[in-house]
Amino acid sequence: MSTQHEAGTTTTHHILVLGAGYAGLAAAVQLAARVGNHPHVRVTLVNGQERFTERLRLHMTATSQELAELSIPELLAGTGARFVRGWVTAVDADARTVRIDDDQVLHYDTLVYGLGGMSDAAAVPGAEDHAYVLNSAHDAEALAARLHRLGSGTVVVAGSGLTGVESAAEIAERYPDLSVVLLGRQAPGAAMSTKARAYLRGALARLGVEVRSAVEIVKVLPDAVELADGESVAADVVLWTSGTRTSPLAAAAGLTVDERGRVVTDTALRSVSHPHVYAVGDAAAIRQGYGVMHGTCQGGMPTGVHAAVSIVRGLAGKEPGPFRFGYYHTPVSLGRNDAVVQFTHPDDSPRRLYLTGPLAARYKETVTASPWPTFGRMKKMPASGAFWPQGGRFTRVRVAR
Ligand SMILES: Cc1cc2nc3c(=O)[nH]c(=O)nc-3n(C[C@H](O)[C@H](O)[C@H](O)COP(=O)(O)OP(=O)(O)OC[C@H]3O[C@@H](n4cnc5c(N)ncnc54)[C@H](O)[C@@H]3O)c2cc1C
Repeated sequence: MSTQHEAGTTTTHHILVLGAGYAGLAAAVQLAARVGNHPHVRVTLVNGQERFTERLRLHMTATSQELAELSIPELLAGTGARFVRGWVTAVDADARTVRIDDDQVLHYDTLVYGLGGMSDAAAVPGAEDHAYVLNSAHDAEALAARLHRLGSGTVVVAGSGLTGVESAAEIAERYPDLSVVLLGRQAPGAAMSTKARAYLRGALARLGVEVRSAVEIVKVLPDAVELADGESVAADVVLWTSGTRTSPLAAAAGLTVDERGRVVTDTALRSVSHPHVYAVGDAAAIRQGYGVMHGTCQGGMPTGVHAAVSIVRGLAGKEPGPFRFGYYHTPVSLGRNDAVVQFTHPDDSPRRLYLTGPLAARYKETVTASPWPTFGRMKKMPASGAFWPQGGRFTRVRVAR
């Protein structure tokens, strides 16, 4: 492995990973395991918190369920990789610098950008002021405190995507005295097979969740949401889960981004405008044969691993390979004892096979619990994390001859 930048000069190659979510942490652990102790490579991971945020469980945090303490510095201990706790406030992709908490500047040679995504509360007036969101553990704890105090009343969950469904079910199960209304444009489970969708609808009904589809929320008020047809739905609490956007940092850094602010990548996950920047997880717009990947943990972890492997290849003077990923399931929790798991084709369209009930709930829990032990395994055996479904013909991008 060579880190010689100029003839005869051996310098240290600084790799900076921003964001320790599922994707960024996968990249950091892989890099730590592969080159963390290399004398001429420095791996640094920056994240807002020392505790790993299990985003997949934020609806559990929001309903006051205790989660395990998962320490990122402890995970990286012994690898040679450095952890910096701090908030990234600016990236300069031309100068190759990152500003942390406005008082620290880190330089890098290669950057892995993995700052994740968030629901788009800015899309509707009033949502940022009056609605709760599930974008961080802090957000979820704020909602938990509010729900705990509420006693009775109505919780409107805005957005009928999978985060909205999981949250509505969890709140209804934990707080049976509350009325839970799920509002959204699409029917819950719209992308599932007819039978799986019907099961999901039945489960929400059993939990007492009132589902209203094909509605457009145009305003959030302190005590209601307003719909496009003029109707007002009373709400003591509004949880906003609709839409997706990403941090403005990437665009401000000068990186080419798409309409949601995601970093547009080439087939190897490098920024199309700044190839020394790799983008991973929800923060990246990654094109596959079936279209641009949507944010999931199942796809996010492989992007982190691929970026790390590519960076290590680059240090050894080799070209990175193309990234390919095919989806395989959509597991949706419906409270703690019920779930639907829709198995999918690589392009995320539903197969006929699906699971429901306690078996599906156990499947979902296994999936949700697996990333942390996977990181631990990858630390000892990085190759163990380098396998995922590549999607066959679904992900093959045709090259014009
Ligand atoms: C309730 C819920 C349930 C979900 N269930 C599933 C599921 O069952 N299956 C599935 O595949 N996906 C699921 N998802 C989606 C999944 O959580 C995301 O796709 C996944 O978390 C993306 O991983 P990531 O690493 O890109 O980003 P994240 O996990 O969001 O991590 C980003 C990290 O960057 C840090 N960060 C952000 N900005 C800064 C900054 N400026 N400075 C420092 N640090 C920063 C954050 O604190 C965080 O640690 C669910 C999401 C939610 C909200």
